[in-house]
Amino acid sequence: MAEVSVQNITKSFGSLKALNDVTMDFPDGGFFALLGPSGSGKTTLLRTIAGFIFADSGSIRIGDEFVENTPVEKRDIGMMFQNYALFPNMTVADNIGFGLRVRKVGATEEKRRIGEALELVQLGQHGDRKPHQLSGGQRQRVALARAIVTNPRVLLLDEPLSALDKALRVDMQFELKRIQREIGITTVFVTHDQEEALTLSDKIGILRDGKMIQAGPPREVYNNPVDLFTAAFLGEAN
Ligand code: ADP
Repeated sequence: MAEVSVQNITKSFGSLKALNDVTMDFPDGGFFALLGPSGSGKTTLLRTIAGFIFADSGSIRIGDEFVENTPVEKRDIGMMFQNYALFPNMTVADNIGFGLRVRKVGATEEKRRIGEALELVQLGQHGDRKPHQLSGGQRQRVALARAIVTNPRVLLLDEPLSALDKALRVDMQFELKRIQREIGITTVFVTHDQEEALTLSDKIGILRDGKMIQAGPPREVYNNPVDLFTAAFLGEAN
């Protein structure tokens, strides 16, 4: 587990500044939401923290380590994206264990960690199934188990629930929060859903046109928006 600190990150695609001098701290063990309209830079910021994208300038610290030049596989991060794909021909257990096999942790340790991860996401009886034998919500639990089974320092989630219908989505929000609290992993969650961000997080950062326009605890941001845009945007949650 670790604190994440993003300082003065700028990233352009051609003449478009997708991130413009973005700074935000994500204290150890908290649940954080990046919120903002489509195109505001949320995914770019998450991918920059992950290491899929390298910023033009600025720094990213995870724990005591500056990682802005570190490749994605060396950042020790767990990830789950909207279009997460499970391997269809592998069992649930083998899907979850994939990252452990890549890291060559050994068969006994692999089995133990997969068992723990299955229990954590409440799929203890489903390890031998194939993904097509699971419901949509169960498949997402498998994707979550796969993201955390390697004990990463940070969990990054890009709209992981947006494909689910409303009822299932609310269930999964609580489930995600429960799991995050249980293992205490620093989590950064991208959403365009104001209600989701306000409900789930310890702190939200609001992006607009690549700028971090406000960051703070949800109630504080909701009650004291910095400008009319933020007020109107958060107001849409009701
Ligand atoms: P959000 O996640 O808030 O919807 P993004 O971070 O995906 O926003 O995108 C921010 C801006 O950067 C958008 O205008 C988008 O079109 C642009 N962008 C993102 N990725 C690329 C890319 N690989 N090449 C060119 N433009 C990009």
